[in-house]
Amino acid sequence: VLILAFESSCDETSVAVVKNGQEVLSNIIATQIKSHQRFGGVVPEVASRHHVQQIIHCTDLALKQAQVNYEDLAAVAVTYGPGLVGSLLIGLMAAKAVSWAHKLPLIGVNHLAGHIYAANLVTPIKYPALALVVSGGHTELVQVSAPGAFTILGDTRDDAVGEAFDKVGRMLGVNYPAGKTIDQWAHEGQDTFDFPRAMLEEDNLDFSFSGIKSAVINTLHHAEQIGETLNKKDVATSFQNDVVEILVTKTKRALANYPSQQLIVAGGVAANSGLRERIQKEISPQIEVVFPPLRLCGDNAAMIGAFAYVKYQQQQFNSLALNANPSLDFEYLDN
Ligand code: ATP
Ligand code: MG
Ligand code: FE
Repeated sequence: VLILAFESSCDETSVAVVKNGQEVLSNIIATQIKSHQRFGGVVPEVASRHHVQQIIHCTDLALKQAQVNYEDLAAVAVTYGPGLVGSLLIGLMAAKAVSWAHKLPLIGVNHLAGHIYAANLVTPIKYPALALVVSGGHTELVQVSAPGAFTILGDTRDDAVGEAFDKVGRMLGVNYPAGKTIDQWAHEGQDTFDFPRAMLEEDNLDFSFSGIKSAVINTLHHAEQIGETLNKKDVATSFQNDVVEILVTKTKRALANYPSQQLIVAGGVAANSGLRERIQKEISPQIEVVFPPLRLCGDNAAMIGAFAYVKYQQQQFNSLALNANPSLDFEYLDN
């Protein structure tokens, strides 16, 4: 079963062809980062325009690289939320056009379900699985009890972890998105600061990152006022260590309370090497851990095609009336 998948929820235009929800035949990703960097974040209006310019070319390339024609496809899938509404609409228009013109069933996919199912492109997901979703907009512990059956166990009360990386990076003078550079610096500096590790001791699975972000910003301001220059790499190391400590502690707590066959680490921040190292060391000995490769951690359409296959098997199709939902929650598919 070949599915053509579209992803345009934020600042990546991506089109992929995925076989049986497992095999990536192509995964074209056009990033717009350069256009947004001078603004220090994604400008929605600019993002939509880029998607319009890129999407047809990406679609042609995805089919060409996969060496398939429209007649070979079984369905067309698209992210319909959460994300920027203007960006989501471009992917939706493209997917609907293909669905209508080639009489293919349309499958709307939740972006976060996609991030989790990127794992299925590495190795088949074993249920029940626990997913740690760490991205630019989300920080969640999710139980996946069966294909498409998601229960949120823990969530962030304020900032997402990727957002905290980006804001701290901005204060340190790093270009958006800052996660990758902070990660590099974290390996070059020393852990000399003790930032607050919010909710670490609390007996729940929720997160909070606004406190640590503010503490870093206050430390930088204070240093500036008294004319002291801080070692930015030490700030990065301390910040990253504290964030990783929080993520790993809560993940272990979730695994203790919800026995799982697999831990899936998903979303853009799953690229973080500090997080990978600690999970590998402290959790891998007990349970199979799936870290999708970097290209499948960030936003991409292959992960959308991976989850779409679950809905395809359950014949969960959408009509052409499918609309974008910028604040879409996890759907729960009854099996
Ligand atoms: P969402 O998926 O919640 O809608 P998004 O799609 O914007 O948000 P992703 O593309 O999944 O988010 O992830 C982007 C985030 O990942 C950015 O905040 C970026 O700084 C962060 N990131 C990327 N690489 C790393 C890294 N090595 N360490 C830490 N953070 C990273
Ligand atoms: Mg510290
Ligand atoms: Fe994402």
